[in-house]
Amino acid sequence: MIPVNEARQIILDGINPLPLEKVNILEALGRVIGEDVAAPRNLPPKNNSAMDGYAVRAEDTKAATTQNPIVLTVTEDIPAGTIPKQPLGAGQAARIMTGAPLPGGADAVVRMENTRKDGGKVHILAAAVSGLDIRVAGEDVAAGETVVGRGTVIRPAEVGMLAALGRSFVYVHQRPTVAILATGDELVDIDEPPSDWKIISSNSYATAAQVLESSAAILQLGIVKDCREDLISKFREASRADLIISSGGVSVGDYDLVKDIMKEVGNTMQFWQVAMRPGKPLAYGAIQGVPVFGLPGNPVSSMVSFEQFVRPSLLKMMGHKNIFRRQIRAILEDDLEKMAELRYFIRGWVRREAGRYYVRSTGEQGSGILKSMVRANALIVLPEAETSIARGTEVQVQLLDTSLEHADRPD
Ligand code: AMP
Ligand code: MG
Repeated sequence: MIPVNEARQIILDGINPLPLEKVNILEALGRVIGEDVAAPRNLPPKNNSAMDGYAVRAEDTKAATTQNPIVLTVTEDIPAGTIPKQPLGAGQAARIMTGAPLPGGADAVVRMENTRKDGGKVHILAAAVSGLDIRVAGEDVAAGETVVGRGTVIRPAEVGMLAALGRSFVYVHQRPTVAILATGDELVDIDEPPSDWKIISSNSYATAAQVLESSAAILQLGIVKDCREDLISKFREASRADLIISSGGVSVGDYDLVKDIMKEVGNTMQFWQVAMRPGKPLAYGAIQGVPVFGLPGNPVSSMVSFEQFVRPSLLKMMGHKNIFRRQIRAILEDDLEKMAELRYFIRGWVRREAGRYYVRSTGEQGSGILKSMVRANALIVLPEAETSIARGTEVQVQLLDTSLEHADRPD
């Protein structure tokens, strides 16, 4: 049996980011870019108008006020997307729309509200200083500047920037494919006729959902009987994935064959049993370099082990730097008892009140009680050394979802 921290260290030390693949920028959303993207040209490419109005020479407008407007001759109309035909001379202005390039000689824009049209002339009602309402070439991004660096998680803002730079595709880390198999003679699939001595393999679905929530891909290998030959062939088949997850068969029962099979097929078994509850019987190894997580069969053990070890591994494979769930400190609202030497992960519900976090257990904590997982939005982490933790104590909490972030309506 090894401590949680050590197990995590062994696992993550052996996991590397996957190679890059070329994807369309929209497919890159949420993924980690593996290249530095530099601007091939200035953004915006040319000085242009920030307003609908008139391009002017600022010095011509110096004395303009509402009472004493300056009258300028309009040389042309410049809609966005067109090229100005002629530079401005003294006493001239050009009608210009937002985004249109400035004509030569113009160094300011007077917005529409400060002008009055008068046939081929315009009355300027307010003085403009040089540079007013002009977007300068390169003011957003200068040619050559790196705007999206490798290691960045692509969000909508990055997608917009990549598009603005003319990049329709980028190189991101591949998503791992995760082979999922459930072991146990007692298991049936959802749609098979139920009987009282069989249970539905809910782990096949909960694990798949956890993998998908981590943004990795699934390879469902279904249910495998507690039978040596079947297990060997399924584990061999699974080794074409980037990571393998099995559930069940890692305890000390007569039919718990998974550990032996992992040793036999993979020949590398890194550890078995972690000092935690739930999830103690975890077995970890590799088959031909593909990491294998032998998760315990009990539904909650399986989910909690996934959270602690598999999710961070998948995120690391996808190139993420932030691979752990957000942790907060919260005030415990129950008295909790535990065994020494094991780290406990208690299913809990966190709420925020008057700027502080409070957490309580969601009830019965048996490793087969999935309902308390359904009611949880967090895991309360109780350290190995403790044996009883009194209400009112501040505890460490891992947030399982983002429900807390949505608790407050924006002002
Ligand atoms: P095991 O680790 O194989 O001894 O399984 C422990 C318990 O977990 C079993 O008695 C089942 O009740 C439950 N279990 C095992 N596999 C699954 C599964 N795929 N889905 C739901 N529950 C399971
Ligand atoms: Mg079993």
